[in-house]
Amino acid sequence: MKFRLSVNISTNFRRLFWLFLLGLVLNLALPLPASSLTEAERAYQQAEKELQRFAASRQKLRYRRHWLKVIARFKNIYRRYPESRVAPRALYRVGRLYEELYGYSGRKADLYAALKYYELLWEKYPKSSHARLALKRAIVIYERKLRSPVKALALKKKLKRLAGMRERSPTVARQAKKNPPPKRSTQAVSVAEKKTSSGEKKSASKLLAVKIGGTIKQIRYWSSKDYSRVVLDLSRKVSYSPHVLKASKEKPPRLYVDIKPARISPYLKPVIPIKDGLLKQIRFGQYRKDTVRVVLDLASLTDYRVFFLDEPARLVIDLIGKGFSEKPACPAPPKIINGEISLAQQLGLCIRRVVIDPGHGGRDPGCRNRRLKEKHIVLRVSKLLAQKLRAKLGCEVVLTRTKDVFIPLEQRTAIANMKRADLFVSIHVNSSPRRRAYGIETYYLNFASDEEAMRVAALENAASTHSLSELQDLLKGILLNTKLEESHRLAEAVQRNLVKTLRRRYRPVKDRGVRTAPFVVLIGTRMPAVLVEIGFLSNPMEEKRLRDPKYLDLVAEGIARGITAYVKKMKLSAR
Ligand SMILES: [Zn+2]
Repeated sequence: MKFRLSVNISTNFRRLFWLFLLGLVLNLALPLPASSLTEAERAYQQAEKELQRFAASRQKLRYRRHWLKVIARFKNIYRRYPESRVAPRALYRVGRLYEELYGYSGRKADLYAALKYYELLWEKYPKSSHARLALKRAIVIYERKLRSPVKALALKKKLKRLAGMRERSPTVARQAKKNPPPKRSTQAVSVAEKKTSSGEKKSASKLLAVKIGGTIKQIRYWSSKDYSRVVLDLSRKVSYSPHVLKASKEKPPRLYVDIKPARISPYLKPVIPIKDGLLKQIRFGQYRKDTVRVVLDLASLTDYRVFFLDEPARLVIDLIGKGFSEKPACPAPPKIINGEISLAQQLGLCIRRVVIDPGHGGRDPGCRNRRLKEKHIVLRVSKLLAQKLRAKLGCEVVLTRTKDVFIPLEQRTAIANMKRADLFVSIHVNSSPRRRAYGIETYYLNFASDEEAMRVAALENAASTHSLSELQDLLKGILLNTKLEESHRLAEAVQRNLVKTLRRRYRPVKDRGVRTAPFVVLIGTRMPAVLVEIGFLSNPMEEKRLRDPKYLDLVAEGIARGITAYVKKMKLSAR
């Protein structure tokens, strides 16, 4: 499990949140007669009171504008009283609230806003105890949410420096040694601050738990008439149990999944009508205090699969309806392609559709070497490959992306299944910390064949090797309906032909062979599916090749020959 959860308070979170805030306010308010407070301190108290009312209101928590209003209160305190002792505390509140808001909204912009105010805090008030708390929060965000270990490391160094600065700070030293009786108002605030900062530490885990207590943040789905994939985006790992309710006279079949410990983001509608296709509608509700029940109303159901993927946490539900595995009559391929009878027609084959998946895209560049990015290379190769396959096989070719856009891994698989592709080929470029590593390799889905395969899968899944070993466990259940044997043969054919084709014009070309690893993009594919690594961008020789359009064209040619060879050998459609 990725997140530490100190107390399981996902269900009672609001009560605790409320109690904590109340405690905070009381801490601040009780020992002090209001008259001894400065204007800034009074304003801060007011803002805390408003926050307390806000946190207690189920209604208000649902609306972004209310969040922003509370946040604005704390921002104003910082703006109006930047020299006051409550200014750093107010900034810290702003950061925390943006973080909380992200837990509900899922908007990255909220996370960045939190970081912005944390940074402002430690830059402006480096000696304040809240500066260190802010740094700690920022480190957590960079490590766990933004997956940017380099940034996190830099901040850890900064945190060390700040801690040193505090020890050397003359005011702190003086207070610690002499502890002189200060003026009343100063003492009052320092007591309050001390309490707040320990309370703040406790609250950090509680407030955090509000965010990570298994919230279902978002639902995504792709649905066709006989296949649907539903993805529930979660704030952390949960346990889940699927159940099927068979169709009765009155009711169509349903699949429900109980998820716990979890709750629903107030931003989600409880019923999502879909209507067209296999999936009629998605309903969900807080079934028990700690359990969310997601119900999928279906037109039919012959098979299903539910599995959890981490980093980011999400639950994937694959649904297969009636008619999915039935082979529709083969449409007559166009008779003449480039003046020749198509190979498919010559052989009487029925390859209707191939889905090609250019890896990465958009905000995910894949691996890179200076300005050269994997996402551009693989898109180019995929487009060339599509042309060649149309010409050679006379089949339809679909690309998961034709532009430089981001598409989540689970969506790529969904596209292939929805299109009822006969083959799925994902194209990637490799990279290794060892610059000398080079060569071509082709993968299909299975347990990792070796350490190196594990590393490549971690790279392509954009996940840690830790979550990969969890993925290995999950594979046992998934491989059942995967076309392993056929995928293996397709991988062999592609690898052999790609290497052979490249060797005609390039030397050396290293054949790294066919391997297996748990690639997320291949999980759940219902057709023979492979992932090709067309060279190492980290290797100077292959980097040069990958910059050369001639090499890319030859790569596409090699893969196309591999697919053709596989089709010829099988002499049948893949499904
Ligand atoms: Zn890649």
